[in-house]
Amino acid sequence: MTPLTTSPRPAGSRHRQVAAPVAPGSGALRPLGLDDVSIAGGFWAARQRLNHDAIVPHIASWLERTGWLANFDAVAAGTVAATRRGREFSDSEVYKLLEAMAWEIGRTGDEALETHLDAIVARVAAAQHADGYLNTRFGNPGQPARYSQLDWGHELYCYGHLFQAAVARLRTGHRDRLVDVAVRAADHVCAVFGPDGIQGVCGHPEIEPALVELYRATGDERYLAQARLLLDRRGHHTLPDIEFGRGYFQDDVPILEATDLRGHAVRALYLSAGAVDAAVEQDDPALADAVEGQYLRALERRTYLTGGMGSHHQDEAFGDDYELPPDRAYCETCAGVASVMVAWRLLLRTADLRYADVIERTLYNVVAASPREDGKAFFYTNPLQQRVAAQETDPDAVSPRAHAQLRAPWFDVSCCPPNVARTLAQLATYVATASDDGVQLLQFVEGEVTAQLGDGATVRLAVTTRYPDDGLVAVRVVEAPDRPWDLTLRIPAWATGATVEDGGKVAAAHAPGHVVSGLAAGDVVVLRLPLEPRWTHPDPRIDAVRGTVAVERGPLVLCAESVDLPDGVALETLCVDPMLPPQPDGDGAVVEGSSVRFAEPDRTPYGAPPIPREVRSVECRLVPYHRWANRGPSAMRVWLPTT
Ligand SMILES: [Zn+2]
Repeated sequence: MTPLTTSPRPAGSRHRQVAAPVAPGSGALRPLGLDDVSIAGGFWAARQRLNHDAIVPHIASWLERTGWLANFDAVAAGTVAATRRGREFSDSEVYKLLEAMAWEIGRTGDEALETHLDAIVARVAAAQHADGYLNTRFGNPGQPARYSQLDWGHELYCYGHLFQAAVARLRTGHRDRLVDVAVRAADHVCAVFGPDGIQGVCGHPEIEPALVELYRATGDERYLAQARLLLDRRGHHTLPDIEFGRGYFQDDVPILEATDLRGHAVRALYLSAGAVDAAVEQDDPALADAVEGQYLRALERRTYLTGGMGSHHQDEAFGDDYELPPDRAYCETCAGVASVMVAWRLLLRTADLRYADVIERTLYNVVAASPREDGKAFFYTNPLQQRVAAQETDPDAVSPRAHAQLRAPWFDVSCCPPNVARTLAQLATYVATASDDGVQLLQFVEGEVTAQLGDGATVRLAVTTRYPDDGLVAVRVVEAPDRPWDLTLRIPAWATGATVEDGGKVAAAHAPGHVVSGLAAGDVVVLRLPLEPRWTHPDPRIDAVRGTVAVERGPLVLCAESVDLPDGVALETLCVDPMLPPQPDGDGAVVEGSSVRFAEPDRTPYGAPPIPREVRSVECRLVPYHRWANRGPSAMRVWLPTT
């Protein structure tokens, strides 16, 4: 790994700069950067390689192909009104690609990628107006006026992604042209949307966490104040009452008064992330606690087994409590990314390790599910049941529908692929944290962790594991201070029977964390997590899956795919016997059950109790959900009816 030069503390900033997307000024835990944590092998290293080698180049090529990058050239040439292509928010996909590239450059030191990034930034910069305004859909000759459509225009949303890309550059040691463009745009936003400016908010939150992070990275207090102003303005009906209601934009009730996450899931979660950020910087526990309460309720009542959020297709929204239909699950990939963003901020603030469980579940079962094995097609929605095998997607066609039933190379609304790319590129920053007196190992990956304790003492750990293929995680202390310090190992909630071996002593380890103290250089601690496949039962209030069970193995949700069923057995006829434990099978499991065919009812599907006509014993192999549909189109289900 190429060492990166972390930016110095900017003048006026009290924030320690760390090569990570989130660097709060205070909190129970401190994040570590890309230069502090390496992912050397295993599940996530393979996906980081895929990101660098396939996903990022794929996204860059589609941004050229669709003309979304050329829109910036057309602004500079004065021709954009006649030639512009893409939806109103397409600029944001360019910025998310830049963010992904920036973290990839920070991670790998790839000079060719740096050259590519510079070339894209030059095109973006050429489209910026003298006063900092930057957008290819509004405000240029022949186009609708700036900020004339705050509800659907996404101008501030696009700035948010621009700022996050700039933060990635600053945090990886580059104060470059991208940063200058972002700072000019942020200054413009403060001038136009400040206390005496436009009294409105963007229909799509996103600028809020980005402004706070730009404040943390530059020390400019105006950005924090502007973020807070936008957060406080939301919920006061400045946006129109649309067919889905103002709750769609979270403009129905102020954040402090809301009890639930509601409306468009990605919007609700980005807003929550920004509110936690502002609350931490302004020492406003009431605001942070309000968001935490809403998020916890969503985890209890409005979250799928995979960690996915969003039950409605029509408005990409959260449903009511326990409204979690598996076949109509929306679970947008971006909502998974956004949930990780919220959970991570709450974890840093509170040190509640259960948020790292949420992050693990969501990363393995939503984020990892999106890209196809070759990194050239993506799921936008992540349903837990596919009734009929989908049509193959055309590798050269843009999918017009977000809910393509198979991974598609690109979408009309293509927010998800670059969101996956930036998340995979910054993944090392979610592996571990530091506190004054210890290090917390949150995710189990092969690699190294280096952390500074409160007094500046260094702890260096080498982690060896094949997780999640194997439950053994060996942590060797490479460097440690002479004084007492704690190593905390996260113990996932599902890990009943986990043990920790330390100096020959084996102790039971319980969720959410196990602390080992007094370790010295050369010591090895071995965590053993039970990865036997297990049955998981749904809360009976989730009507749509009552009478079914699922199988999980460690952090992985498993699913049945039609391609694994014996000849002549349809997935819809499969029932399983939860009295028989699922048997391990590679990274999946095998379950026993029956294929039950019922007599065809007369005309309507309703009437007398159905009569089984043909019952056949079957063994069914289950595979990790994240791998489904990698062997071609298939029917799939996570929740299996019981015999
Ligand atoms: Zn998306």
